[in-house]
Amino acid sequence: LAASPSPGNVEDMYELLEKLGSGHFGVVRLCRERSTGTFYAAKFVKTRRCWGSRLGLERAQVEREVTILRQLNHPNIMRLHDLFASRAEVVLVLELISGGELFDFIAEKEMLSEEEAIEFLVQILCGVEYLHARLIAHFDLKPENIMLQEKDVPKPWIKIIDFGLAQQLEDGITFRSLCGTPQYIAPEVINYEPLSLATDMWSIGVITYILLSGLSPFQGETDAETLSNVVAGAYEFEERCFSQTSEMAKDFICQLLVKEPEQRMTAAECLVHPWIKPLSRKQALNRSRSSINMRNFRKFNARRKWKLSYNTVSACNRLCRTRLLCDLGKEDEELRCCESDQEEERSPHTALLRRRRSSCS
Ligand code: ATP
Repeated sequence: LAASPSPGNVEDMYELLEKLGSGHFGVVRLCRERSTGTFYAAKFVKTRRCWGSRLGLERAQVEREVTILRQLNHPNIMRLHDLFASRAEVVLVLELISGGELFDFIAEKEMLSEEEAIEFLVQILCGVEYLHARLIAHFDLKPENIMLQEKDVPKPWIKIIDFGLAQQLEDGITFRSLCGTPQYIAPEVINYEPLSLATDMWSIGVITYILLSGLSPFQGETDAETLSNVVAGAYEFEERCFSQTSEMAKDFICQLLVKEPEQRMTAAECLVHPWIKPLSRKQALNRSRSSINMRNFRKFNARRKWKLSYNTVSACNRLCRTRLLCDLGKEDEELRCCESDQEEERSPHTALLRRRRSSCS
C-alpha cells in the first residue's frame, strides 16, 4: 500500500470484538488496542487477489481511500488510526464513532428548530470546507455517511465517514465518474461531465432540503425518474411540507441546487450565508422560530432505513444480474457504479449506473 501498513496481523495489536456495521466489501468491527485499551473500529476490506477477479475491491481503490484518510485531521472527519494489509485484505483501524447516524438521532426528537439543525449543518460544512481546501472531494455525501461521535452528550459532534469514492482532484486534470446514489448525485455526474468540489455541494443542498422537509427533492417512482428529475433540475418547495421553513433556508438550498456547478455556493460561502450566520437579530429570530417538519422527516427516515435493510437482503439476489452489468462496461474503469434505490427497475440509465464497487463474482 502507498501509505505503509503496520507490520504483523491486526489481532496481534487489537482485540477484535462485535460487528458494528457492514459495507459492500466487508465488515466493520469494534476492537480494542491491546497496548492502550482504547476502542476503535476495524474496517475489513476484501481486495482482489488477481487481475480480472471480480471478488473484492481493486487494491488501487483501497489505496486511494487510505491515502486520502491519512492526510485528514479534522474534528468533523473520521480519523484513520492504523492500517494492516495482507494479500487478500486491508484492515483500516478507524476512530470509533458510536453515536449512530445524524438522521436517526434527529428522528428521535420531538421537535427541532432550524437554529438547532443549523448547528449540525455547520459541522458538516466545516468538515467539507476542510476537505475542499485540500482539493479532496468526498463524492458520496448522504445521510448514511454523516454520523455522530457520541449521542448522549449535550452537543454531539458530526463525523463524516466513508471515503470510498473520495478523490484528490488535481488542477487541470478533469475527473469524470458515474458513482453515488441517485437521490443525492449532481446533474454533472449523470451527464458524465467533469466533476468538481461543487459536486459535493449539490449533495449538501439535497441533504438540507430533506432535513427541513422530510421530502427528497428529486425522488421519482423509479431510479430512472429520479435521475431525469435531477438532470432537469426539477424541484419545488411544496407548501404542505415547507410551511414551517424560513425563506432564508429556501434561499440557501436554491443556491446549492443550481445546475451549473460554478454557480453553486462553495462550503466557505455557505458558512457565511445569512441563514447560517445571521447578520441581524431579525434573521436570527427567524431561524429560531422556524422548525423542521418532524412528522414528515420521521416518515422519510423510516422509509430510508427500510430501503437500506432491503438493499442488504436483496444484494445477494442481485449478484448474477450485476455481473452482466459489470461486463458491459469493463473497458472503462471510470464508469463505476451507482447505488440504486430501486431494486427491480430496468432502464438505459441503470445499465450505465452500475452498483458501485459491486462484489459481483
Ligand atoms: P458502502 O458499502 O456503503 O460503501 P463501506 O464498505 O465503504 O460501505 P463504510 O460505509 O465505511 O463501509 O462502513 C459500513 C458501516 O460500518 C457504516 O455504515 C457504519 O455503520 C459502520 N462504521 C463505519 N465506520 C465506522 C466507525 N469508524 N465507527 C463505527 N462504525 C463505523
